[in-house]
Amino acid sequence: MNVPLLDLKLQYASIKDECLKVTEDIYNSQHFILGPHVEALESEIGSYCGADYAVGVSSGTDALLISLMAAGVGSGDKVLTSPYTFFATAGAIARVGAIPVFVDIDPDTYNLSPESLDRIIENMPAEEKRRVKAIIPVHLYGQCADMDEITAIAQQNEWLIIEDAAQAIGSEYKGKRAGALGEFGCFSFFPSKNLGGFGDGGIVTTGSRQFYDMLVILRVHGGHPKYYHRYIGGNFRLDALQAAIVSIKLKHLDTWTAGRQANAERYRRMFEDEGLTDYIKVPVEKHDRHIYNQFVIEIPGERDQLKDFLLKNNIGCEIYYPVPLHLQACFSYLGYKTGDFPHAEYAAGHSLAIPVYPELTEPQQSYVVETIKAFRNGSR
Ligand SMILES: *Cc1c(COP(=O)(O)O)cnc(C)c1O
Repeated sequence: MNVPLLDLKLQYASIKDECLKVTEDIYNSQHFILGPHVEALESEIGSYCGADYAVGVSSGTDALLISLMAAGVGSGDKVLTSPYTFFATAGAIARVGAIPVFVDIDPDTYNLSPESLDRIIENMPAEEKRRVKAIIPVHLYGQCADMDEITAIAQQNEWLIIEDAAQAIGSEYKGKRAGALGEFGCFSFFPSKNLGGFGDGGIVTTGSRQFYDMLVILRVHGGHPKYYHRYIGGNFRLDALQAAIVSIKLKHLDTWTAGRQANAERYRRMFEDEGLTDYIKVPVEKHDRHIYNQFVIEIPGERDQLKDFLLKNNIGCEIYYPVPLHLQACFSYLGYKTGDFPHAEYAAGHSLAIPVYPELTEPQQSYVVETIKAFRNGSR
């Protein structure tokens, strides 16, 4: 049996006619950048997330970058974030000239830990603390971070909250959606995200008219009116084609999310029934609506061998993320060392994502679980 980590061809088959039609409309119009498809998507995503405004941008990475720029974060400022996330989260901070300050994660949810955050700011000299401008909680794998605690600390210190919601479209925290939990919500339409385009794309949500206006200006190099620059922005524009495809997919998103959630539930039952829950740790659902961009298990040892064994048996799997960001070569100037963030380092060394996409079948899941069981029993 073959079980890929993600099978987008199955999803495409279900929406092919609609996609081809809108694509042809755009080809006929020859209007490729921004325009009505992007505006429509912005209003749809705004309502979907419960945010007043949304601004389509070129990628999830650029969503983070433009948010930091709109927030006025720049040279010498500090921004707090998780060391256990996709590189772009911290990369964007460094690219605006600011300094990433890492905070260890909660070992159960893999999200930024409010307790670690408390400890870090307690030990921060006042001078340094004044330079912190924002915090970027990441809603990793599709589950929201502990936003009540994070928001309380942010408000106390007058930091802006920029949500990295690239993996969390539609995920909820106490009834509120990702993208409506901070000043900025950053989403990605990279094809492997739950709501993916046919190429790169992203969007920023915000509840603030002022930030919205700034995002719109920065998206076109900071020119307002055109060719008159009070600000330096960039080319952060979203293609009409991507917006149109994402709009089509958005109509199916809740059904697909339900499929992912059902698959996650079924894995839990299967691992339980096979007596594997003392061996592998399944994702801990702490907040209301986990959208399972990834289903990440943890095993106590031999994670790399399990990965090889699954791949050998035609089961797609991936290590997210093998090197926590505080140990990346490009951030060596920050002066972090192994042991600084033990939970992030443990997760990087022991976690493995297995297939959870909506079209996954019960026999496929059962094959995944059986193969893990065979590994536990000594097969290599
Ligand atoms: C995918 C992702 C990004 C970047 O999005 P792109 O569209 O690939 O630029 C940022 N942060 C996280 C957590 C992501 O998963």
